[in-house]
Amino acid sequence: SNSSYKWHRVLLKVSGEALAGDQTQNIDPKVTMSIAREVAAVTRLGIEVAIVVGGGNIFRGSSWAGSSGLDRSSADYIGMLATVMNAMFLQSTMESIGIPTRVQTAFRMSEVAEPYIRRRAVRHLEKGRVVIFAAGTGNPFFTTDTAAALRCAEINAEVVLKATNVDGVYDDNPRHNPNASLLETVTYQDVMSRDLSVMDMTAITLCHENNIPVVVFNLNKPGNISKAIMGERVGTLIGG
Ligand code: UDP
Repeated sequence: SNSSYKWHRVLLKVSGEALAGDQTQNIDPKVTMSIAREVAAVTRLGIEVAIVVGGGNIFRGSSWAGSSGLDRSSADYIGMLATVMNAMFLQSTMESIGIPTRVQTAFRMSEVAEPYIRRRAVRHLEKGRVVIFAAGTGNPFFTTDTAAALRCAEINAEVVLKATNVDGVYDDNPRHNPNASLLETVTYQDVMSRDLSVMDMTAITLCHENNIPVVVFNLNKPGNISKAIMGERVGTLIGG
């Protein structure tokens, strides 16, 4: 890989909500295309990119559990399947502009994607392919943020880049407090103790324990994804 950039291998987390853009459909093809273009630009620089996609634009287990007798585990498996749809859509978009991309699922769906095999995922990355990890961790009661932290640790990526619809982490909820200010850096401890609601506790704990920095940034600003991947200052850096 290229040594002139801050990161050599990154884990990009794209939430389902972000994929929806401002469309009434679940997925906005303008969003997936801009992600693909920005990822293409950095892979050409030799930076290895793995992606974890969420599914909240289609189905969020926790908000469905309980209704119509749906138990939490079943609801969560449906949520995980939603992430596979997003992953396949993103894969097609990436390949349409010439980026070789593999989808690996946390549980088997061999007709449509590879199963998650850590060493194979690393091999793909080394060959310059983008790997999209789908179906979260494969376990109900977890989130795709936790899947991002887990896969990041497993493949020895150096950072979790969390692409969201907000500019980063604020010292208070900007929706309720107009004076809330954007933080440039924040410690894991602060995120947890002040409940800054950027990532669930399981995900942030996993990052903390493995010293994985997290960059939270807005993917709606053109150029932000490639900036984040190239290690330029963008959004909020969680570390310490
Ligand atoms: N999910 C799960 N286990 C995982 C990851 C995801 O059960 O390891 C389910 C869960 O129901 C979740 C849904 O998949 O609500 C979609 O994932 P998530 O909410 O993390 O997506 P995002 O918020 O990033 O769009």
